[in-house]
Amino acid sequence: MNKPVPDLSIVVPSYNEAANICPLVEAVRDALPGLDWELVLVDDGSTDDTGRQMAIAASSDPRIHVITLARNFGQTSAMQAGFDYARGDVVVSMDGDLQNDPADIPRLLAKLDDGFDLVVGYRVARQDRLVTRKIPSWIANRIIARITGVSIRDNGCSLKAYRRSILERFVLYSDMHRFIPAMAVAAAGARVAEIPVRHHPRVAGESKYGLSRIWKVLSDLLAIKMISSFRSSPLVMFGWAASVSAVLGIGFALLTLVSVPGGFRSGMAYAYVFPSIVIVLFTSAFYMLLLGLIGEVAIRSDPTSGPIGVLPPGDEA
Ligand code: UDP
Ligand code: MG
Repeated sequence: MNKPVPDLSIVVPSYNEAANICPLVEAVRDALPGLDWELVLVDDGSTDDTGRQMAIAASSDPRIHVITLARNFGQTSAMQAGFDYARGDVVVSMDGDLQNDPADIPRLLAKLDDGFDLVVGYRVARQDRLVTRKIPSWIANRIIARITGVSIRDNGCSLKAYRRSILERFVLYSDMHRFIPAMAVAAAGARVAEIPVRHHPRVAGESKYGLSRIWKVLSDLLAIKMISSFRSSPLVMFGWAASVSAVLGIGFALLTLVSVPGGFRSGMAYAYVFPSIVIVLFTSAFYMLLLGLIGEVAIRSDPTSGPIGVLPPGDEA
């Protein structure tokens, strides 16, 4: 049965949020009177009653859809599964724990209508711990701005509104939902706006993250940066590494020459060690240069190459 396409899709990834599902659905209903919406609830492999609560909600309202993932894939993949399913021209993402407030959605939509492709909420008076949450996130937002060149106050706030055309331009994986604004700008030159949104303390269930997320964020950031610069010019990246090797190689070669008159007599180690280092360094410089060239050939012959996770135009289906 083909259901009519709604104007707005709200995507909510949830992992073990049983006690939050019912109040969340009520809050969404209350927040969007008169709007044509669908609510896409993604059960990210929950082991509690979340799946059943979602099914109950869906059975009483045809606007509610449930996607059940076979195991816990993590918030980012759950979000992407929801985006893949969502049919609205406008898509909103938010957390399933009611820390985001659905009552902010109309303001996000109004801002989108002002001519933006992506509206990102930032949490004023964020209701999380200072040392383990707010301070790391303050630092992370600055690093992300520096590295990606897209400055966003609060990348970690899930409450965002997107034009569907933007969402179709990239695929999320790992923990990359935190880089959506940067990816949207890189992939499609998205016009991004930020608005303040409410943030409530968690009432039911537990936070799924601790300080360990810092490493995930940093490694994702490194991956984005490395792969996007690699993608644009592998020869430059490998060329730098080759140059460092070559310069060190030349240094050791000079050292070998200098050591020859006295050194070879005073200690045989120089005779073997320095020339061996020279050979290793020159070989690796040559090897890296070749890798860079192969990289160039590879990206030139791959028309789909672009920044990490970003799909080429016309390939979004
Ligand atoms: N979440 C998820 N899969 C996971 C971890 C979290 O779908 O593996 C969901 C979680 O249920 C919540 C949202 O992602 O709806 C944000 O998680 P959480 O509230 O734990 O993060 P915090 O607010 O503490 O940053
Ligand atoms: Mg939360």
